[in-house]
Amino acid sequence: MKTHYQVIVVGAGPSGLATALNLRQQGVDDILVLEKKTFPRYKCCAGYITNKTKTAYEQFGLDIGACHYTLIKDFNIFYQLRGVQTIPNRFLYTNRKIDRVELDHSFFLLAKMRGIAVWEDTYIECHEPDKNQVLLNQERTVTYEYLVFADGTTGFGSRYQPEKRRNIAMQVTFPADRRDAIGIHFGITPKGYAWVSSYQGITNVGLTDVYTPGRDYRAVFANFLDRLELSCDLRELRAAFTPIGTGLPVMDQNVFFVGDAVGACDPLTLSGLRYSLKSGEKCAQSIRTGNPGRYRRYIRTLGIRFKMMTVLQRLFYRKPILWLTFNVGCRYFSGLMAFAFNHFFVNKK
Ligand SMILES: Cc1cc2nc3c(=O)[nH]c(=O)nc-3n(C[C@H](O)[C@H](O)[C@H](O)COP(=O)(O)OP(=O)(O)OC[C@H]3O[C@@H](n4cnc5c(N)ncnc54)[C@H](O)[C@@H]3O)c2cc1C
Repeated sequence: MKTHYQVIVVGAGPSGLATALNLRQQGVDDILVLEKKTFPRYKCCAGYITNKTKTAYEQFGLDIGACHYTLIKDFNIFYQLRGVQTIPNRFLYTNRKIDRVELDHSFFLLAKMRGIAVWEDTYIECHEPDKNQVLLNQERTVTYEYLVFADGTTGFGSRYQPEKRRNIAMQVTFPADRRDAIGIHFGITPKGYAWVSSYQGITNVGLTDVYTPGRDYRAVFANFLDRLELSCDLRELRAAFTPIGTGLPVMDQNVFFVGDAVGACDPLTLSGLRYSLKSGEKCAQSIRTGNPGRYRRYIRTLGIRFKMMTVLQRLFYRKPILWLTFNVGCRYFSGLMAFAFNHFFVNKK
């Protein structure tokens, strides 16, 4: 069995496959992707995609319309469970909802079809950067010229990242006979929001917050469900972290970090798919041209943008600002509110 590859990518999520596919498009063929799970695999995600995310996937030739894809008609905004405003789609940059398991599986199949080698059920047990070598489960060892960590916020690569502050996000999906609608709820968690979306008989309830150790998020979630008069099996509740801010893009000139592994995810809205695809593209360009500085610069620019979002996050979730936004803003300046929501939450990005 082959034991040396020009590029090894750790993680077959959107950022890992985008890196591999871009490399392949640019003429780099000797690529191996390692994935600890087997596809189709579950991924905690609310499934909102922006126009730019859709376009980015389509540039790979992916038919994302086939992945239980629904156009969102409007968002209902709630503050402390009271409806404050409905933002119709004419205000929104066209936004969609998608089945993330199907999306990731389709992307995986596309990568396989394009000839990318993916070893599923495979994960790193030890990394020896000085030898350009990784030790895998089942006692296999492979060496590389370039290594790309695309293994998410808490994967193996996260041990090299300095930033440990994270958003927590949790969600549950269950069949429920509710009318098709999306509700975004503020005032449920101190520094985040919750969502309830029902489409075609399936309801997805989730919440996010800046992670505070010791806070009982499960209880917060159960309380939110109770107050919505929804019941479901909480054993199905899944939680994951998303990054707050970007981290180290390149280590030792030949070890790269992409997607959530480098913090390429909007800290305010959790919108990460587009940045995963983009960071994969930029990383592939830097590897092909042997210019890691180019990738560092891209991540630095992204970091500045996310810092601004973090400042906004800190300001927005102050109690008086929330109160003013929802009790005064939504009542008297609804057009402005729709514009701001569109820009910062629905992602004109
Ligand atoms: C609850 C929640 C809701 C979200 N909602 C949205 C949304 O609506 N829209 C949006 O755009 N973004 C959303 N995001 C963010 C988005 O899901 C992420 O930004 C995106 O998945 C990052 O892609 P990635 O490829 O970097 O990482 P991932 O998608 O996490 O993929 C990492 C891959 O690496 C594998 N892996 C992990 N460790 C190892 C290892 N040691 N060895 C080998 N493989 C490994 C994993 O199995 C996985 O397949 C949400 C996130 C959460 C948590």
